[in-house]
Formats: sequence, C-alpha cells, structure tokens
Amino acid sequence: MKRLVILGGGYGGIKVLNGILNYQLPEDLQIIVVDRNPFRSLKTEFYAIAASTSAETDVRVAFPDDERVTYLFREITKIDTEKQQIQFKEEEDILPFDYLIIGLGCEDSYHGIPGAKEYTESVQTFAKARQAGLAVSNLKAYGKVSIVGAGLSGIEVASEIRESRPDLNIRLLDRGPTVLKAFDSKIQEYVEKWFVANNVDVIHHSNVEYVEKDGVCNNGVCYLNDVTIWTAGVQPNYLIRELPFKKDRHQKIITNAYYQVPEQPNIYVLGDCVSSEHSPSAQLAMQQGEQIAEILLSVLHDKQPKKPKEIKLKGTLGSLGKSDGFGNMMKYPMIGFLPRLAKSGVLWLSKRH
Ligand SMILES: Cc1cc2nc3c(=O)[nH]c(=O)nc-3n(C[C@H](O)[C@H](O)[C@H](O)COP(=O)(O)OP(=O)(O)OC[C@H]3O[C@@H](n4cnc5c(N)ncnc54)[C@H](O)[C@@H]3O)c2cc1C
Repeated sequence: MKRLVILGGGYGGIKVLNGILNYQLPEDLQIIVVDRNPFRSLKTEFYAIAASTSAETDVRVAFPDDERVTYLFREITKIDTEKQQIQFKEEEDILPFDYLIIGLGCEDSYHGIPGAKEYTESVQTFAKARQAGLAVSNLKAYGKVSIVGAGLSGIEVASEIRESRPDLNIRLLDRGPTVLKAFDSKIQEYVEKWFVANNVDVIHHSNVEYVEKDGVCNNGVCYLNDVTIWTAGVQPNYLIRELPFKKDRHQKIITNAYYQVPEQPNIYVLGDCVSSEHSPSAQLAMQQGEQIAEILLSVLHDKQPKKPKEIKLKGTLGSLGKSDGFGNMMKYPMIGFLPRLAKSGVLWLSKRH
C-alpha cells in the first residue's frame, strides 16, 4: 500500500485532489487530506468575514465526497521530512506518508514591528477573520479602526467595513505613495477617490513603528485606535519555514519544474508555500494544483511526467463593498460594477466546482 497525504484543503490542495480523482488510481493507493477545518475555506472572501457582511456558510464549501479519500481534521504541528511523517497537536498521533503534497498557505508577516502580532487582528485564517469580525462588530458607535497595508486584502477589508458601518472612523495606512501598488494607475486613482468619497482616511508613506492595545504609532505620530487589522504582508506557514529545504528570499520552498523538492522528490509544494515568479494568489495555487495532479498521475502509474506548461494568470478582481470594484483582467484595467459582478461570478463558480 502507498499513502498520498495532502496537507491543506485550500485552493491548491483541493485542485490536486479533484485532478487525480477524475482518473483511475492504483488500487493500493490510500489518499488522506489533512486540514484544521472540516470544510474548504474560500480565503479570498475573508474580508467579508472580517467585516461581518457575509455569513460563514457563504465562504466555505464541503470537501469532495469520494470513498477513495479519508479526511483528517487536525492541527498539523510538524512535517518530519526525515522520518516521512506528520505530527499533530494531539501528540500521540502520527501520520506516515509515501507521497506528500504541501499546500498549507501563508500567515501574516509582521516585519519585526513591536506589538503588531499581539495587538492586531488578522484575515489570514477563518478563525482569525471571525475574531476580527467580532472585534469590529462589537465597536461602539464612532469607534476607530485602523487597517495597516493597502494591498488587495487591505482595500477589501477597509471598504467592506465602511459599507457595513458608516459610523466608524476608518484609517488605512499605506506604505507607498498610492494604494494597490501592483495595479494600473487608473485603478489606483479610482480606489483613492472611492475612499475620499466614502470618508476613509488614507495615510500614504506610512511607516508603522509599533502597535499598542489602543493605538498605532506611525512616523512619530500615535493614533488612538480601538481595532487594528493587519494586512501588511504575508509569509509561508511556519511549518514550511521550518523545513530543511532550500528556500527563496520570501522563505518559500524552491522546487524543480515538477513542483518536487529536489532533496526529496516524493514531496510536492504549491500555492503560497512554493517559490514562484508570480505573486501568491488563489488563481496561481489552483493552476499549480492542476499541474501537480497531472504529474502525480504519471508518477503513480510509473510513467515519466510531462513538463508542466508555463502558468498564465488571467488577472485579479477586487471589491469595494458589495456593488463596486476593480480588476486587472488580461492586463486591461476595469472599474465599477462590472468587475464587482465578475468577482461575485468567480465566487459563485468556485462554490459549485
Ligand atoms: C482577504 C484576502 C483576499 C484575497 N483575494 C484574492 C483574490 O481576489 N484573488 C486571488 O487569486 N487571491 C486572493 N487572495 C490570496 C489567496 O487567498 C491565497 O493566495 C490562496 O488562498 C493560496 O492558496 P493555497 O492553496 O496556497 O492556501 P490556502 O487556500 O490558504 O489553504 C491552506 C489550507 O491549509 C490549512 N492549514 C494551514 N495550516 C494548517 C495546520 N497547521 N493544520 C491544519 N491545516 C492547516 C488551512 O485551513 C487551509 O485550508 C486573498 C487573500 C486574502 C487574505
């Protein structure tokens, strides 16, 4: 018997799973998927959980039901690559593997800023986004919220909270001269104007020095604050950072063209955990998942896998509340209701496939 273990039932991990389940698999193959949650989390929608504008059931999906798959809903605490086994919070349990897929996503990067980890809310896990939603919902009228980081997730969190709570004082701390530095200038201008029109205070050239329970200190000025939400950078899951494999400057594992770890080719890495020329995204993780499924099918049938084709990303869609948005589709900037509608369409599709 051979055991294939998939760590993380996120965008990448589930693409691998679905990709191989469509085909005949060796009879002696056991497939085990491990995730802390008993459902698939649609992380791209966590901004709506942090603003309490969507129900949890809107941003999660059931895992594929197939008699060839066993699910283990546990907190992984260590990937022991030498002994080829996984360890869990429940110390007595150990899961050995023959083939391993690592798709454990990312976590916040605090860049060593004092107090950031202790005193900020996060949107990087379901539990943390839920916690952020509770903190914002419990604010008294005219409470103060600061969001640190004006990339895609910071913009979505700030705008969604604004739409949900017109009374709150919302401040968005942006490191650069304009929000959304990776996007087209037409989109940047549109989003900047949206924040002005919707009374969100955007502070450019921010340099957060430290965070306290009731405040954020930036460029020598400390703002009194009730809730601070951190959206200022991510890094691979700590379980990946601990692994004894070669990594890039973002601490992501460097694999060969087949997503295999050169030191241990029975281990595959994808999504936010693997080194790539592209920025981390759900779209990237899903395409990598599809490619790994094809590679694995060959490997499992003792065939030489074909080299995966170049990844081609379609672009990114973002929301400004429930009826406005923006997008970089095929490098063409889009603003307004249409990209927002397209984003809802993508969510609808991902919930049904
Ligand atoms: C607010 C927000 C908005 C975003 N919007 C977009 C967007 O519009 N488009 C886009 O392409 N990307 C977007 N992203 C980025 C995207 O969500 C990630 O790049 C994507 O989820 C990465 O997929 P993955 O498969 O690598 O990991 P994930 O989808 O994060 O899956 C990781 C899985 O591992 C599990 N896990 C992690 N650690 C453990 C552990 N210790 N034990 C057990 N299980 C564990 C988690 O529960 C999870 O199911 C957004 C992210 C955020 C936070």
